[in-house]
Amino acid sequence: MPLLNRAVDMQPEIAQWRRELHMHPELLYETHWTSAFVAEKLRSFGCDEVVTGVGRTGVVGVIRGRQGGTRCIGLRADMDALPIMEESGKAWRSQTPGRMHACGHDGHTAMLLGAARHLCETRNFAGAVAVIFQPAEEGGAGGLAMVQDGLMERFGIESVYGLHNEPGAPVGSFAIRTGPLLASVDTFAIEIRGVGGHAALPHFTVDPIFIGAQMVSALQGIASRNADPLDSLVVTVTQFHAGDAINVIPQSARLVGTVRALKKETRDMAERRIRETAQGVAAALGGSAEIDYALSRAYPVTVNHPKETALAVAVAKTVAGGKNVDPDCPPIMGGEDFAFMLEARPGAFIFMGNGDTPYCHHPAYDFSDEAIPYGVSYWVSLAETLLKPEDQ
Ligand SMILES: [Zn+2]
Ligand SMILES: [Zn+2]
Repeated sequence: MPLLNRAVDMQPEIAQWRRELHMHPELLYETHWTSAFVAEKLRSFGCDEVVTGVGRTGVVGVIRGRQGGTRCIGLRADMDALPIMEESGKAWRSQTPGRMHACGHDGHTAMLLGAARHLCETRNFAGAVAVIFQPAEEGGAGGLAMVQDGLMERFGIESVYGLHNEPGAPVGSFAIRTGPLLASVDTFAIEIRGVGGHAALPHFTVDPIFIGAQMVSALQGIASRNADPLDSLVVTVTQFHAGDAINVIPQSARLVGTVRALKKETRDMAERRIRETAQGVAAALGGSAEIDYALSRAYPVTVNHPKETALAVAVAKTVAGGKNVDPDCPPIMGGEDFAFMLEARPGAFIFMGNGDTPYCHHPAYDFSDEAIPYGVSYWVSLAETLLKPEDQ
């Protein structure tokens, strides 16, 4: 079974929704307009239940099949945008300066709405499908907020699936892997304290800039000397703030950075070594360091479960054709807060080609509307495959 005819027929309308969403980007948990748009659409399709306010601004729609059954699966899309000034030049560009759907969450939301509509029309399955629309994927841990709000228990969700567009991969292709697919994301800040003074009399000071410079170098040793070379770890210092005057050694300096890993043990090792390295270097040079780890809500590693990934591969192959599905793609060091849902329930996260577009988070990025029928077909086929009446 290739693309669903209905998904192809609905493409122009879903693209219209997508562009409307694109014009109204909202950040983190402030997805009030978007959540209302989603809830209104779900009600108009005839969802059996539409629940708003799950994990603050999350929305869940429940669609029950015609064939009895008690099982329930979750299909998840994200709704939030990014604080970026759009430069796509598209007619449907952001109407809010400094905010933009630069990660394609407008496309994810529109495709899952399209799938919900089709599933409401056909209901050709046993049990129920919960369509999950989450806020705050971009650093706000909205997925965790929904899980903590009882998402899985309230709707009896037994397994959960997610999808993300992938710029650079052809439209009509899918990629996935069993095990770690996306990295954990942690952030840290190091406050270095020294003794300020006259720039011409360094021997009366403890220079925090000198300490910070050694520290940045030493931190590079964690990935290159402490981590197994066959394992993946990124430790990047992204900010170094110190000093205001040309002739003054400041009292303090501040480093901020991010850590990405594909294994929990590596993630834990990196945290321990960042603390030891920062404190050790500062002490050796006469100052001190205070470390604030997990500055923002940290995301765990996104780990795909084997059985659910195999099912996702089989479904993607029916939709896109065997040669267009990579069942063992390399992991990516970016993070995803679907990781929290995969910690709560088994499931799988899949990439879907967005064609030759700028990468996610670029000001000229735009979701590819030609990809819509693939995403909708994947969701519908996944639901009908997982909830076959004979399996109940
Ligand atoms: Zn993103
Ligand atoms: Zn994203």
